[in-house]
Amino acid sequence: MVGTLDIALDKVAQSRISEFDENNIQFAKVYSDHMFEAHYRNGHWEDMVIKPYGDLSISPANTTLHYGQSIFEGLKAYKADNGDILVFRPQANAQRMIKSAERMCIPAVSEEMFMSTLNELLKIDSDWVPSKPGTSLYIRPITFGLDPFIGIRPSDEYMFLIFTSPVGGYYSEPISVKVETHYTRAAPGGVGAAKTAGNYAAALYPALQAQKSGYSQLIWTDGLTHEYVEESGTMNIAFIIDDTLVTAPTSDTILHGITRDSVLTLAQDLGINVEERRLSVKELIEGLNSGRVKEAFGIGTAATIAPIKLIGHEGSDYDLPSIDNWEFAPKILKALDEIKTGKVEDKFNWVYRVR
Ligand SMILES: *Cc1c(COP(=O)(O)O)cnc(C)c1O
Repeated sequence: MVGTLDIALDKVAQSRISEFDENNIQFAKVYSDHMFEAHYRNGHWEDMVIKPYGDLSISPANTTLHYGQSIFEGLKAYKADNGDILVFRPQANAQRMIKSAERMCIPAVSEEMFMSTLNELLKIDSDWVPSKPGTSLYIRPITFGLDPFIGIRPSDEYMFLIFTSPVGGYYSEPISVKVETHYTRAAPGGVGAAKTAGNYAAALYPALQAQKSGYSQLIWTDGLTHEYVEESGTMNIAFIIDDTLVTAPTSDTILHGITRDSVLTLAQDLGINVEERRLSVKELIEGLNSGRVKEAFGIGTAATIAPIKLIGHEGSDYDLPSIDNWEFAPKILKALDEIKTGKVEDKFNWVYRVR
């Protein structure tokens, strides 16, 4: 038994860590030795175990496979210079997962359970947290319905898993994105603010169309008018217009990104003017033409800040100023990285130290 919860421990006989080359990390190619698993039945979470990472056995009638009653999270752990394992704002992920759970009729994992299981898993697989600059351990918690029943209703039983994978930087090169004015990611009253499976399946087709035209991601616009900027791919998005950082306010069509919240807090702390307001595609295109839009970047856990070099809109492409001349995003990225890796004082109390 480990931790404050009743977690059984079934350790691997032989670690696979030697298969992992820290100098050549491919995104999510290799998963760490262990995963955490818990089962929800009769109204509570039980059978908690840390066990070897491996396949699950699922009924063909599994409700999640058919109807997508599934929610997930994504967060990262970093290795500090002194060897400590630092997790960036995991409590915020736990809280967001509780909100996603409510929207999808999934029983929540409490923040306490999330935090102690995460702590124990990271302690056991601490060797898997890479230490080179730009690397981290990606952490994927997921909860999904387990019932072997193809009727449509909330499942009675669920599984909660946490597994991890060492990762390098995600998008290092500046990306080209296309403003999507036909397809919709999220509609008012829908599930866009929940990190739930179907949102991502629905986005594959529009993203693929854009990729065929040479863009690597989309800028999603609002589902009602397609006139206002919402997100970029699976990231939030922000712009530097004149000397102000502009990003859409969160709503039920925009995922409440933890990186977004951190970037806004840090920008204000760095003395940068921040506006959370709706930004029309019209204003964006005019600003790109006039040179008022100086920087554009995706914001999310995977890439932290993904610089955008080009924005396509209805057949025309607009270049951003060369990233070498950017002032704001690099400053914010550096400040964020220094906090995440424990290089500077954690004045916002964002870093959780595995103990
Ligand atoms: C996860 C996610 C984000 C970014 O959230 P972070 O907490 O910063 O990782 C933004 N948009 C969508 C659609 C997402 O799924």
